[in-house]
Amino acid sequence: MTSTLAYATTSPTAPLAPFSFERRAPGGEDVAIDILYCGVCHSDLHTARNEWNNTLYPSVPGHEIIGRVTAVGSRVKKFKLGDTVGVGCMVDSCRHCQPCTDGLEQYCDKGFTGTYNGSLYGGGENTYGGYSTHVVVRESFVLRVSHDASQLAAVSPLLCAGITTYSPLRQWGVKPGHKVGIVGLGGLGHMGVKIAAAMGAHVVLFTTSAGKREDALRLGAHEVVVSSNAEEMATQAGRLDFILNTVAAPHDLDAYLSLLKLDGTMTLVGAPATPHPSPGIFNLIMRRRRLAGSLIGGIRETQEMLDFCSAHDILSDIEMIRMDEIETAYARMLKGDVRYRFVIDMATLATPAA
Ligand code: NAP
Ligand code: ZN
Ligand code: ZN
Repeated sequence: MTSTLAYATTSPTAPLAPFSFERRAPGGEDVAIDILYCGVCHSDLHTARNEWNNTLYPSVPGHEIIGRVTAVGSRVKKFKLGDTVGVGCMVDSCRHCQPCTDGLEQYCDKGFTGTYNGSLYGGGENTYGGYSTHVVVRESFVLRVSHDASQLAAVSPLLCAGITTYSPLRQWGVKPGHKVGIVGLGGLGHMGVKIAAAMGAHVVLFTTSAGKREDALRLGAHEVVVSSNAEEMATQAGRLDFILNTVAAPHDLDAYLSLLKLDGTMTLVGAPATPHPSPGIFNLIMRRRRLAGSLIGGIRETQEMLDFCSAHDILSDIEMIRMDEIETAYARMLKGDVRYRFVIDMATLATPAA
């Protein structure tokens, strides 16, 4: 067992604060990792505040982890001491069901074990995430990171925001010639813009924040639509092949469904605390449109995404914060004021400000 420093919350209203707990000693298939950086996902906030009504307290969020290997178990083959690695949203799954066998561990029939807020198999324990100094993870859930050492902080958001946008863009076959809408320019949305553009699509970014227009173009969008502007929205009616909706709050889906072409699909990845108003039926049936959902991505696909981003020089645009600035970061996230992912420098947890 190793004593581990972390930041945790103990109730939906308690601010995150220093916390310590014991990590297991690495077993034969485990990799022990010192955490360098951890991205801040809106799911961390939903969980800390129990917005999905499933939070186990104390809760240590964080599932965009980049770190360095400090120990490996005797049966570990892929990693050695000193390697730079990533850990995303999952640390285990049943490994036997059809989805697991197909590399779709996120859809494990028994439910994957979350990096945080996940029960470990054989016990009802809570898992504690990346707002901590180190973590111990089974080898098969650890990712190889080939980016340059100077880029590691900006790589951490790929472990959730990157894969959550890459996976549906691949699943729905986005390619050159497609016109793709990305809704919401936050952590997920800005990765969606970059990845869809790298896949060769014509990217239209939809935002509620007129002030993000220039940034969206710089990040790779070809057009930007401010969603509150009816005239701008009308220019896209019936023109999009695919829409990836990343918004973290309930909103009118019809406004976006009506922008899809015949046979177009809108995939929801945003997971608000309360449901969207139900969309109208005619908007779907008149053009055989589809409304879909998607959950992160499997381990094999996460590795593919990391390698894709490395090959295309794709990083997250980040704002580095200290661990003790997390509550301010959450407050800004709730206002849509994220440019475009907060990343915690984990050295600030081990050595707090004087
Ligand atoms: P984020 O950084 O906070 O970005 C969300 C963006 O949505 C905002 O920046 C904002 O962009 C837009 N937005 C519009 N109205 C909003 C409102 N009332 N409240 C909040 N945002 C609003 O969040 P994120 O980390 O990208 O996560 C987005 C959602 O995806 C969350 O619900 C998260 O839990 C979920 N998620 C799902 C998966 C999955 O596997 N499906 C994985 C990770 C995260 P504009 O200013 O451009 O309008
Ligand atoms: Zn996440
Ligand atoms: Zn399974």
